Amino acid sequence: MDRIDEGSGGERRVECLIVGAGFGGLCTAIRLKQRGVENFVVLEQARDVGGTWEANTYPGCACDVQSHLYSFSFEPNPDWSRVFSPQPEIWEYLRRCVERYGLRRHLRLGTSLSQARFDEGADEWRVAASDGSIWRARILVVATGGLSVPSLPSLPGRERFAGESFHSARWPADVDLSGRRVAVIGTGASAIQIVPAIAEQAATVHLFQRTPPWILPRRDRRIGRTERRLFRRVPLVRRFYRALLYLQLESRAVVFTVWPALTRLVAMMGRRHLRRSVADPALRARLEPDYPPGCKRVLLSDDFYPTLERDNVTLVPLAAREITRNTVVAADGSATEVDAIVYATGFRATSPIPPGLIVGRSGLDLTERWRDGAEAYKGMAVSGFPNLFLLMGPNTALGHNSVVFMIEAQVHYVMRALTAMREAGATRVEVRPEVEAAWNERLQRRLSRTVWSRGCRSWYQDERGRIVTLWPGFTVEYWLRTRRFDAPSYEFSSRPIRAAAFLGSRAA
Ligand code: NAP
Repeated sequence: MDRIDEGSGGERRVECLIVGAGFGGLCTAIRLKQRGVENFVVLEQARDVGGTWEANTYPGCACDVQSHLYSFSFEPNPDWSRVFSPQPEIWEYLRRCVERYGLRRHLRLGTSLSQARFDEGADEWRVAASDGSIWRARILVVATGGLSVPSLPSLPGRERFAGESFHSARWPADVDLSGRRVAVIGTGASAIQIVPAIAEQAATVHLFQRTPPWILPRRDRRIGRTERRLFRRVPLVRRFYRALLYLQLESRAVVFTVWPALTRLVAMMGRRHLRRSVADPALRARLEPDYPPGCKRVLLSDDFYPTLERDNVTLVPLAAREITRNTVVAADGSATEVDAIVYATGFRATSPIPPGLIVGRSGLDLTERWRDGAEAYKGMAVSGFPNLFLLMGPNTALGHNSVVFMIEAQVHYVMRALTAMREAGATRVEVRPEVEAAWNERLQRRLSRTVWSRGCRSWYQDERGRIVTLWPGFTVEYWLRTRRFDAPSYEFSSRPIRAAAFLGSRAA
């Protein structure tokens, strides 16, 4: 890494330190390179890049957003094999991006962030990494993703289980479920992909369902050779297809955010899908949700419902309450003997950053700052934490469209911020607290009118029921709000700096 300066006491100095090498971290790295910044590093705790697409390797893992949209706008892939491509292909796409944009030498794989602390005397982040290295960075970009910390239910007896048990996002590479009796706990996006994929080899599958999800047809299909060739040879067709997908998904925001009464139509579609897929009326009754669609993420699947009618698959329409040496005990006390347990129980979406990890001005811990709920300005900037940008931070996840679109908008904004700092000769930029507070007050007001606030519990809400994860409207609105860096919303300050070529010299 030729352009990283050795600082005092073995500390290495970079202009920008990125935490996480998933879609967000890689997008930031690519954009930095494109503006001529070479002096940056990406810390990634996993052995490889890919973020969620490296971590989630469970059978059946695929994206439920169409691949031609769930990919970088500047790095199209005409060769997606399916409308909804499987995990290995998405992971491969991200690895290709690393080579294509020459990111490899900026990566520190297998290295996690131990602590980032803002040094007020130098207007820099002092970052300690798990390999013992210490970094100093003007800008810190935290791109660790909202869905990266598995959430395991606190079921009594969980550690006593004698068989194999693991979280869906920590699927052991060598596990063989053939002929085994398996319990799957949870019925979210992960579980509905896992159950059809394991039902054929497993002796039995017991699926513990606390709340049924709304499920619509997925209509996945292979993208044939002719179509792929067309996408490759006529980029306009590919772009048009991507735009159509975007508009199709964006229109869902009308239902979720503008006119929640329309969820009745979605419910009709969901019930029809259930009727067509499941013949047994008793099973159908157990699978029908009693809350408006969208309140929890609407799932897409063509094979989940039919799988539940297999002889070796049993739906237990109850929460798991306890684990013993060899059973899962349901809320009604009934015990099911199993050899393996899959916890498809989701992620700590509302509190993905542990205490002590990010410490801002005056020793303020980010988790302390977020004691009453995570919040940020535009999901990226937090007062008290200068020169820090979060990607996929509070209230920027989506219930209706591709998060890659949001990530690109955020990275564009961060690059604009760097340009503004360079032009102002500023070494510190920090969002004004009153701007941040007004932004969040407005967001919460809007969110209270959406379907996500209507009578269900989901990972969108924190313990107090406040929605701290989702963006409340159209993504196009977010895009417009991130086109320019709104300098008046921030405080700038300067101190003499060492490096002449500060934060890149090319325009963003
Ligand atoms: P999730 O949606 O949070 O689902 C967790 C499930 O565990 C819920 O059904 C929950 O029930 C259940 N659960 C928790 N404790 C339980 C207990 N004691 N007994 C029975 N059930 C219990 O998690 P996820 O499925 O991993 O999905 C999380 C998010 O990741 C998705 O919403 C999506 O954004 C993303 N994801 C995307 C894809 C994709 O295709 N792009 C695939 C997988 C995941 P309750 O509903 O009652 O809380």
